[in-house]
Amino acid sequence: MTTHLMNTYTRQPVAFVRGEGAYLWDESGKRYLDAVAGVAVNGLGHAHPKLVKAICEQAAALIHSSNLYRIPKQEELAERLCALSGMDRAFFCNSGCEANEAAIKLARLYGHGKGIEVPTIIVMEKAFHGRTMGTLTASGSRKIQAGFEPLLSGFARVPFGDIEAIRQVAEHNKSVVAVLVEVVQGEGGINVLPPDFLVGLRQICDAHGWLLMLDEVQTGIGRTGTWFGFQHSGVVPDVMALAKGLGSGVPIGACLARGEAAEVFKPGSHGSTFGGNPLACATALATLDVIEEENLLENVRLRGEAIRSGLRQALASVQGVVDIRGEGMMIGIELDRPCAELVAVARDAGVLINVTADTVIRLVPPLIYGDAEVNVLVAAVSGMVKNHLQQAA
Ligand SMILES: *Cc1c(COP(=O)(O)O)cnc(C)c1O
Repeated sequence: MTTHLMNTYTRQPVAFVRGEGAYLWDESGKRYLDAVAGVAVNGLGHAHPKLVKAICEQAAALIHSSNLYRIPKQEELAERLCALSGMDRAFFCNSGCEANEAAIKLARLYGHGKGIEVPTIIVMEKAFHGRTMGTLTASGSRKIQAGFEPLLSGFARVPFGDIEAIRQVAEHNKSVVAVLVEVVQGEGGINVLPPDFLVGLRQICDAHGWLLMLDEVQTGIGRTGTWFGFQHSGVVPDVMALAKGLGSGVPIGACLARGEAAEVFKPGSHGSTFGGNPLACATALATLDVIEEENLLENVRLRGEAIRSGLRQALASVQGVVDIRGEGMMIGIELDRPCAELVAVARDAGVLINVTADTVIRLVPPLIYGDAEVNVLVAAVSGMVKNHLQQAA
């Protein structure tokens, strides 16, 4: 083990050398079923031929030029994403935190444009928006913030999905300019917004001239069975952050905006050296193509439901299973006790899973799962959960 990496991750003792479809292979040749997908990144699975081809061709032609020049692939990607989402303009960056950082900056500029001196953004408890100073301040976890004070000012926090709490802030705080929320909280434990929350939030935002900003870094690009998580609600946001699944592993993030919000940034307001370079954009375009060609949105809806209902059936009478929830292929199994050690148990059995928020098993498989993968995953995970709950009892 190297001692030359900063100590930011407690890494599992395994290194993968190759992937194909929904499977990964380690250095010893052992095969694993992947239900992590690089934390909701590798939506097309591993080494998808169409993606590999697009990357190779673009790398051979031009990897990077600069945003000092026109980048046709970036223009094309912006057009595609806007057509799919109903947004008007895109800003490209390289990660989820940068996409959210762009949204935060956009909201502040929007507020100042309206003469609001201390523009305030409403954010949620248990939120995760990233690790930059702005996005860790917006995140709702002391673990992420502790030690990095002073945090930024200009944020107000409410319980996740609590529309009444937002109404109350609206009455008392005249500095609010935007609300930033995840459609399904990922790191926070696969928490789904209550039905009609976004409809209510849209009304409040419209009444007060606030921007409705969605962090779709994890939920976007098919993860929940629609292109974007908000499309289950019938409501369209003003600003949306994307990253994880967008580039299938080649780093790219995007902040999309609509209407007035789309006109806030001017030359010099914001920028990125690498953001939206030809390689990243070609990869993202190929990702969108494959999702369309292989009908993956429908696959996510069907297989996601099959995984959830399979788990519900297998764990129906099991004491200690608090909830099985999620949307599409973003699935959480909440237990009544910590379960981090299940990650290693599953890995030994050749299945890669993740645990978040201490007690929630998070399954975010590649969007390409077939019946075989669904069945193996359900059997493996339900078996482990039963053992875990019996052992500890
Ligand atoms: C992963 C994630 C981020 C942060 O993305 P990075 O690429 O790690 O900066 C932000 N928001 C949500 C909802 C995420 O899931």
